[in-house]
Amino acid sequence: MNFKQNFINGKWVPSHTSNKRDIMNPFNQEIIAQATESDETDTRYAIAAAREAFDKGEWSRTSATERSKKLHTIASFIERDNEELAQLETLDTGKTLDESRGDMEDIAGVFRYYAELADKHGGEVIDSPIPNTISKVVYEPVGVCGQITPWNYPLLQASWKIAPALAAGNTLIMKPSEITPLTTVKVFELMEEAGLPNGVVNLVLGKGNTVGAELSSNQEVDLISFTGGINTGKKIMQSASSNVKKLALELGGKNPNIIFADADLDIAVDQALHAVYFHAGQICSAGTRIIVEEKIHDSFVEPLVERVKNITLGSGFESSTQMGPLISKEHLHKVIQYVENGKKEGAVIAVGGKQPDAPELKDGFFYLPTVLTNCTSDMSVVQNEGFGPVITIETFTSEQEAVQLANDSIYGLSGGVWTKDIAKAERCVAKMRMGTVWMNDYNVYFPHAPWGGFKQSGIGRELGKAGLEEYQEAKHVFQNLRPKALNWF
Ligand code: NAD
Repeated sequence: MNFKQNFINGKWVPSHTSNKRDIMNPFNQEIIAQATESDETDTRYAIAAAREAFDKGEWSRTSATERSKKLHTIASFIERDNEELAQLETLDTGKTLDESRGDMEDIAGVFRYYAELADKHGGEVIDSPIPNTISKVVYEPVGVCGQITPWNYPLLQASWKIAPALAAGNTLIMKPSEITPLTTVKVFELMEEAGLPNGVVNLVLGKGNTVGAELSSNQEVDLISFTGGINTGKKIMQSASSNVKKLALELGGKNPNIIFADADLDIAVDQALHAVYFHAGQICSAGTRIIVEEKIHDSFVEPLVERVKNITLGSGFESSTQMGPLISKEHLHKVIQYVENGKKEGAVIAVGGKQPDAPELKDGFFYLPTVLTNCTSDMSVVQNEGFGPVITIETFTSEQEAVQLANDSIYGLSGGVWTKDIAKAERCVAKMRMGTVWMNDYNVYFPHAPWGGFKQSGIGRELGKAGLEEYQEAKHVFQNLRPKALNWF
C-alpha cells in the first residue's frame, strides 16, 4: 500500500506515533493509500525546522529573482506531471477528471503568477516631508507560516498559500485536509526536486484538532492561513491570539445568484447549473441561493429542473460523468439532514432530494442534484451553507428587495447578478456586500484577482497582489542624510 509521510527539514519521515490513516476513494470507498497520522509532537518538529530555516537559513535573504526562478521551476514540474496530479485529485476527491485537469492548469498558473510578482513588490521610495532625508518602504517576509487547507480543492487551495508565501521569502508548514492529502504530498515531492533549502517547506499529515490546533497556537508560528469551515475558523482565531499571529481566514459562503426578468434566460439557467453542481456543490462560492424575479419564476425554474434531471452521476474517470460523489459518508449525512430540515420548514423538492437508486452508484457517497422551491430568507437551508448539490429558490419583486435578500446573510463571499440592463447590474453590485460579484457570469477565478470574504466569510485576501501582501510585513526605513543635534533635553 502506498504510504504517505511527513516532509520535515528536507526528509520524508513517518509520525513518531506510527499511527496510520486510510485514504479513501469516495466513488467506491476503495482504500487508495495510507497516510501517517501525526500529532502535536510531529508538528513541533516541523515548526522547529521552519523556524531554524527562517532565522538562520538563506531563503529569507535570497534575492526575489532567485525565489522567482524556484517558483517557475515548481510550475514547470506541475505542468510536466499535470495528468498524474489530475488523476490523483479525481481519485481522492471524486470530482470529474476534466475539473481536476482544469485545477492543475490553474495551480501551475498560480505558481507562475507569484513567480512574476516576486521581484516586483520588494519596496518603494516614498516622499519624505523632511528635507535631506530618504524614506522608503521595504516588504519583508512575515516568518514561519502555518497553512491549513480543506478537502474540496486540496491542491488549488494549497497553491494559493504556498506560492505567495515562498515568493515573499517565508518558511512554511502545510497541513492538508486529512481526507485528501495525496496531491499536496506529490507537490512536496516536486518542491524537493526543485531543490528548496531544507526546512523551507514542511508537510505534516494529520487531523485538525491535533496538527492544526498546534499550528494555530504554537508561539513559534508567526502567521496562520486557514481555509475551511466557519466554526473551525473561529477556533483558530482564538488560538492564534496566543502570540498575536497574523491571520488569514477563507471561510464559507451561502452565495446569492440574482436573476432579473430581463436576463438571457437560456444562459442564466445554464450558468446557474454550473454555479452549483460543479464538484457536486462542494465549492465555497457555489451559487446555491438563487433569487429570481417573481414574474419569471416558472419560466426559469421549469427548464432548470428539466436540465437537472439529465445530469449524469458517476465515476470522475468516466467521460460521460457530469457530477461525482460527495467527499465522505459524514458529509453525505450532513447534506441529507440539511435538505430534511428544509422540507420541515416548508421548502418543496422540485427535483432530487435523495440519494440515487442506481445500483452502480451504491458504494459512492452520492446525492442527487436537488432544487428546493418555495424558500424564504428565514429558512435554515437559505441561511446555512449546505456544501452539497442543493439549490434554494427565492423570489423578489423589486431591485431593492433582490439586493436586500442577497445581503441577508452572515456570509459575504461571492454573488452573481443576471440582467441585460448594465446600469441596474452596477447599482446592485455597488450594494452587494461580498468579496467577489460576477455580472452575467459565475465562478470565474484567476490568479490576478483577489479572493476572500466580507462579513463572516473571512479575513484577508488570497490571490492577486493582496495575496502576496498577506505574507509580507511593511517596514518603513528612514534615513537622515544630514543628522544634527536636537537639543531638546
Ligand atoms: P474544516 O473546517 O472542517 O477543515 C478544514 C481544515 O481545518 C482541515 O485541514 C481540518 O483538518 C482543519 N481543522 C479542523 N479542526 C481544526 C482545528 N480545531 N484547528 C485547526 N485546524 C483544524 O472544513 P472542510 O470541511 O475541510 O472544508 C469545507 C469548508 O471550507 C466549507 O465551509 C467551505 O466553504 C470552506 N472553503 C472556503 C473557501 C474559501 O476560499 N473561502 C475555499 C474552500 C473551502
